[in-house]
Amino acid sequence: MSEHYSAFRLLGEALRGHRGWRPAWRRAAPRPRYDVVVIGGGGHGLATAYYLAKDHGLRRVAVLEKGWLGGGNTGRNTTVIRSNYFYPESCALYDLSLRLYEGLARELNFNVMFSQRGMMMLAHGEAEMEMAARQVNAMRLNGVDSELLGRAAVRKLAPVLDFSAKARFAIHGATFQARGGTARHDAVAWGYARAASALGVDIIEQCEVTGFIREAGRVVGVVTSRGEIRAGRVGAAVAGHSSHLAAMAGLELPITSYALQAFVSEPLKPLVDTVVFSAAAGVYFSQSDKGGLVMGGALDRVPSYGQRGNLAVQEEVLGGVIALAPSLARVKLLRHWAGIVDVTPDSSPILGPSGIGGLYLNCGWGTGGFKAIPAGGSLFAHLLARGEHHEISRPFDLSRFAAGRLVDEGAAAGIAH
Ligand SMILES: Cc1cc2nc3c(=O)[nH]c(=O)nc-3n(C[C@H](O)[C@H](O)[C@H](O)COP(=O)(O)OP(=O)(O)OC[C@H]3O[C@@H](n4cnc5c(N)ncnc54)[C@H](O)[C@@H]3O)c2cc1C
Repeated sequence: MSEHYSAFRLLGEALRGHRGWRPAWRRAAPRPRYDVVVIGGGGHGLATAYYLAKDHGLRRVAVLEKGWLGGGNTGRNTTVIRSNYFYPESCALYDLSLRLYEGLARELNFNVMFSQRGMMMLAHGEAEMEMAARQVNAMRLNGVDSELLGRAAVRKLAPVLDFSAKARFAIHGATFQARGGTARHDAVAWGYARAASALGVDIIEQCEVTGFIREAGRVVGVVTSRGEIRAGRVGAAVAGHSSHLAAMAGLELPITSYALQAFVSEPLKPLVDTVVFSAAAGVYFSQSDKGGLVMGGALDRVPSYGQRGNLAVQEEVLGGVIALAPSLARVKLLRHWAGIVDVTPDSSPILGPSGIGGLYLNCGWGTGGFKAIPAGGSLFAHLLARGEHHEISRPFDLSRFAAGRLVDEGAAAGIAH
């Protein structure tokens, strides 16, 4: 059992110098055998383990992480959460996630700082306004909230943008999803880890999977830097390293790995209370609770595993932000970094059996899987526990690439993560 976090508990600890807090999760040593082994201690792996224990009653579950929890993309992203996708399959997936986020802090008894400050996607011309109207209609038909805003409404929500006659990107309006927003990324990983550990899941850090144990063609366990571990089923949730891991099982995935960068400015007084996105400028930004502007843009152009920032993208992203809001031109950049994201040909995730018995895949979230952590975890747990798809994950099966049933969300998933 983990301790219950509350205002009284916080007050009590404040009075005795915060000396009574216990570690949020157990540091487990690997056991020889589990019912399910999940590879990857990012948000998706940890959420999967939590839902396996909570919804399916499985207790012999382990999460194997080669580094530290959330040290992959989960702790490196720009934290945007939204469900404003185009196709019904995607809306069902991402809106399930948004609904789960809405109750997540309470469910995990961990403040994930989910802030529904809304997300606006700017339209910079009449043609873009028409596309924005179609997007809003498509979302509403799919049962997801969305509004079409005119120029005055955008100005009211984000006065920091340039509305002058000389603006580089004239603002005509925007689509707006009020339920969208941001959350604290590593809190999501820690919250799931803590809740899973309390339900008996073994969380094993510094444990790299280096191979698979196969019997009669089936995956029956993993080889790790801390020894062999057998498992009834193995789930892989390793994002940018999915192709590399799958190759160890002799599988070639339709995934290309790229660096994606994020940028944070020095802290500023509150100046923008929503997430602002512009496809034309190629950027988006929001303001963190500490006051820093959190900014991002497109992928690096060349596939790579080099997990670091570079000046070319820095210039592109910061130039785009300044073009939208010239008053930010003298703000100083504090930090920038990169994560390695796993991009599929249709910019939709892969959730399902790998084609090799015993091995299941949760990957291909590309630039947008933070928002999908609760749904990805819950649907992957369903797959691993029952060996079959939930209706919402079925369209995202790996077989869609052979069958040509793509869920092409390139437009919704490009720069807008
Ligand atoms: C700069 C940036 C900005 C982003 N912005 C957003 C955003 O605003 N909104 C959004 O929704 N998404 C965003 N994303 C995407 C999002 O972060 C990812 O899709 C999501 O975090 C993927 O989660 P995950 O758990 O699958 O992977 P990860 O968090 O990457 O976790 C995978 C884990 O697997 C581990 N691992 C890898 N190989 C092995 C192995 N062999 N053995 C054991 N462990 C292994 C890694 O160490 C890692 O910890 C962004 C990503 C980046 C990089």
